[in-house]
This record gives sequence, structure tokens and C-alpha cells, in this order.
Amino acid sequence: MANKKSTIVQGIGITNKRVSGRLHFLKKQTTQSKKRSTYNVGTELLRLEEAKKNAIERVWEIEKRAKEITGSSEAQIFEIHAMLLEDEDLNDAIITEIKNGKCAEEAIEIASEKYSKMLIDLGDEYLSARASDIKDISSQLIKALDKDSKRDGQENSTSYILVADDLTPSETVLLDKSKILAIVTFGGTPSSHTAILARSMGIPALVGTGRIEAGLDGHLALLDSVEGSLIIDPTDSQAEDFERVRAKENKIATEHERYLRSLINKPAVTRSGHKVMIYANIGNENEISGALSNGAEGIGLLRSEFMYLERQDYPTEEELFSTYRDVAIKMGGRRVIIRTLDVGADKQISYLDIPAEENPAMGFRGIRVCLERRDMFKNQIRAILRASYYGRVSIMLPMVVCEKEILTCKTLIEECKAELSERKLPYDSKIELGIMIETPASAIISDKLARLVDFFSVGTNDLSQYTLAVDRQNSKVASLCEDNYEPVLRLIKMSAKSIHENGGWIGVCGEMAADLSLTEELVKIGVDELSVSVPYLLGVRGKVSECR
Ligand code: PEP
Ligand code: MG
Repeated sequence: MANKKSTIVQGIGITNKRVSGRLHFLKKQTTQSKKRSTYNVGTELLRLEEAKKNAIERVWEIEKRAKEITGSSEAQIFEIHAMLLEDEDLNDAIITEIKNGKCAEEAIEIASEKYSKMLIDLGDEYLSARASDIKDISSQLIKALDKDSKRDGQENSTSYILVADDLTPSETVLLDKSKILAIVTFGGTPSSHTAILARSMGIPALVGTGRIEAGLDGHLALLDSVEGSLIIDPTDSQAEDFERVRAKENKIATEHERYLRSLINKPAVTRSGHKVMIYANIGNENEISGALSNGAEGIGLLRSEFMYLERQDYPTEEELFSTYRDVAIKMGGRRVIIRTLDVGADKQISYLDIPAEENPAMGFRGIRVCLERRDMFKNQIRAILRASYYGRVSIMLPMVVCEKEILTCKTLIEECKAELSERKLPYDSKIELGIMIETPASAIISDKLARLVDFFSVGTNDLSQYTLAVDRQNSKVASLCEDNYEPVLRLIKMSAKSIHENGGWIGVCGEMAADLSLTEELVKIGVDELSVSVPYLLGVRGKVSECR
């Protein structure tokens, strides 16, 4: 029987693998209610009751998942949501609106608006903060009333290929990652956050595909991230060819992995004797067991911003401390480099209230935010310092462009140390301080910056973006980065020379560290550490030992 025609989509492949599965388009949450024109009070009350029950179940599901993914502190907000859904005053207010002739959707909107206003008017900081939670739960209730609405693919019982415009870091927190076979995004580049997420999950992705018709939701597809293609509705012969190649590759991959695993407990040393530390990039403490079982000798980049996502307010010093301490303890004396909060640009957090900018990548982001929001920054620094007592913790500053930024941070770190001493809390007084080399400015004046810090870690994702003037989110210009390593490599070489002359060390923690075609070059430059997502640890270790 002849197959119908397939659709072939091209993109940039991430994590070389081939998978097949059904497409699942991510539905962005909409909070618009569908007002009904015909209804009676009895039915609306029943609908409300059912929606409330479903919304509560849903909130507990999310709470459980958030706990598994991000740890318990971030999950607390969902407990508050569940309590608010059962709040008697709010429920009575909704019922009154229904009895006054409103449909359930409208009643929820009106009652929750009045209720939030009342909380804000009380002038209490804690209660005002609950006003935004009321907004959240009212949209969940309205969503639960709409039986036709699907819930972001979380209901799918089988695994799928997730298709989205793009994924924001906060959207990724709530994805049920165990069900995702692969990710396809219309936008994005190899160094965009979706690609970084895919690498850290070890799943294939295709970014920068351009829009795919939503009507293809649920269709069977073959994703090939080696060739950078997606075949939707494959013909029989396309499916057979795909299977044949996949089976052959899987066999080779299994043999290669066996060889790489045999290297895990051996130091990564080049044939000429240069030792390279192989560290892991992680976003939360749940990635540590994978990092250790894949031979990570340390954490080269803890992207601390993930603890600030999916919340209504800043995490407290205690919450941060408890997570950082757990990480330090789990790493058992191995180095843990905590990068201070790096938000802004493509990583926005609503409660930070960063005003919209014309050009956010060059705007209020990274260390610039921390130096303005000093209380928030010092909370984080104190938490890191306190954790340093339990292991080998280092502080790393993102997006530095000048000496003054480092000097100001050093003053703030000293202030935090003094405050902790006053509180009689222990910390490592000799804690290492490093900076990310992510801007051409920092590489160019690296001779001066190297005198102020213990180490550099090169963030090649941003360094490439700013050096080549290539927006890391823009797939249209992504290939300029792929074909153009020399300018970035020269900046790394310059930085390596500066820090070595000052007795420090240098690592690379951007995505270039995982690109095996560049390992030889990076090692030749004298890079001391390569920090990569967990699924790349073995491959990079193997590659270093093959280098001259
Ligand atoms: C980088 O810029 O290379 C980096 C590691 O930081 P992020 O990807 O989090 O911006
Ligand atoms: Mg960066």
C-alpha cells in the first residue's frame, strides 16, 4: 500500500541521536476565560465544585514534580496554592457571584479580583504577595472548567517529541522530562537555553526549524539530530532506512560507551602529560548523582538562577544555604563553583521587575542586576559562604566587563563574611573567587582582571554572541558561530595567558567545552578544566586522553 507524502523539516541538531515518536505541541498557558452565554445556577455550582477538585489534584501533582526537579523549597508555593483553592472566604465570594447570575468563569474572575484587592489594601507585605497567588489559582480554576483544554502535554501517558516556539527556562522546570523523547523548537541556536537543557538531559533536539504547522500535532515523526532533520509522517521506506541506521549506531555507541566507562576513575591526561579537570555543569542538586556516576571531578558551573525560577519572591538565605550545603556535601570535597545569579536577557524572572529593554542581551543582566539589588545579592553570597564550610565551594561572577565590578563584589563579600562572623556562623575564609569570561572586554583586559581573582571560566555561549555579534537565540545567524571559532579561541588564549601568569587557572564551561572537534585546540591553549553537561562527561574525558 502506498504511503501518503511525508513532510521534511530541517534544523540544527543537538545531541547526536535518532529517535522516533509522536509530535506533541506545547500549549502555552492562556488565562482568558471563555464566558458562557447560557447557564443556570445549579449547573454552575456543580461545575465550580468539580473544577475545584481537579485544580487541587493538579496543584499537588505539580508540587510533587517541582519537589523532584528543583527541591523542596521551590515546591512550597504550590502548597500555598492548594490551601488558597480551599479558602472559604474566596469560595464563598465565588458562589455569591454565581448566585448573582454570573457563569462560573466570570464569577471566579470577579471574586478573585476583589479578594486580591482586599489583600493588597491590608498593606501587609506577606498578604500582598498572596494576591498574585490568587491570580494564579483563579486561572487554574478557569482552566479546570474548560474540559477541552489540554494541560501542556503533561497528560500524555506515552513519551513524545515536544514541539514549541521556544522554551523559557521557567517553562522547562515544569515539563515532565521523563516523557520527552526529543525537543523541536522553531527558534533557538546551539547555545540557546533550550539546547543547553536538551544536552543536560542527554536527549536529542532540533532547533531553529522555523514554524511547523500545529495541525501536525500527534503525527508520527523521525528526528535525526545528527543530520538535523525531522521527517513527519514518514513513508515505509524512510522508516525502514531510519531504523537500520539507528540499530547500527546504537551498537557502536554501546561499545564506545563501554570503553569510555573504563576511563572514569583515571585522570584525564593528554598524551603529552597535560592534566585537564573534567567538571559538570548543573542546574540543580538532582543532577549530582548523574554527574558523579559519570566521573565528574567537580561542579564547574552551578547555574544558580534555576532556584529563583517558578517562584513569587526571592529565595531566602536559609533556602539557598540549605541547597548549596547539600550540593557541597554530596560532592564530598570536590570543587563546587556556584555562579551568582545570572538573570536578565533570555532569563527573566517576573518578581525581579526588570523593565522591558530594547536590547536585553546588552542590558540589565548578570552582575549588573546583582550590583543594583544588593540585598538580594548579599543574601546569596552569605548562603554560598555558609555552604563553603561543608565542602570546597567557590564563588563565580557572571558577565563581568571591568575591574570595578570585581572590586565592588569583593567589598560586598568581605561585608558578608563580617556579618557571618558576627552571627557566629562558620565559612571558608579563603573561599576561591572566579569570574566568567563572557564578554570580549573581560578577555581583552584579562591581564588586569587576573590579578583580582583565583580563576577564570570561559562562557563561550555569551563570549561567542558578543564577539561575533550573533544573537544566541537567533537561528538565522547561528551558522556564523559554527564556522567562526578563531576569534573566540584567540580570546580564550589571551585569557589563559593572563591567568596563568598570575598563578590562577582557567576552565571553559560554555557549550564549546563539549564540542569534541575543539578539545584538541582548547587543550593546546592550556585550558585546565572543561565543564560540560552530564551526558558529555564521558566523551570529553575520552577525547582529552586522545589529545597530543
Ligand atoms: C555561557 O555564556 O557560556 C554560559 C556558560 O552561561 P549561560 O549559558 O548560562 O549564559
Ligand atoms: Mg552566559
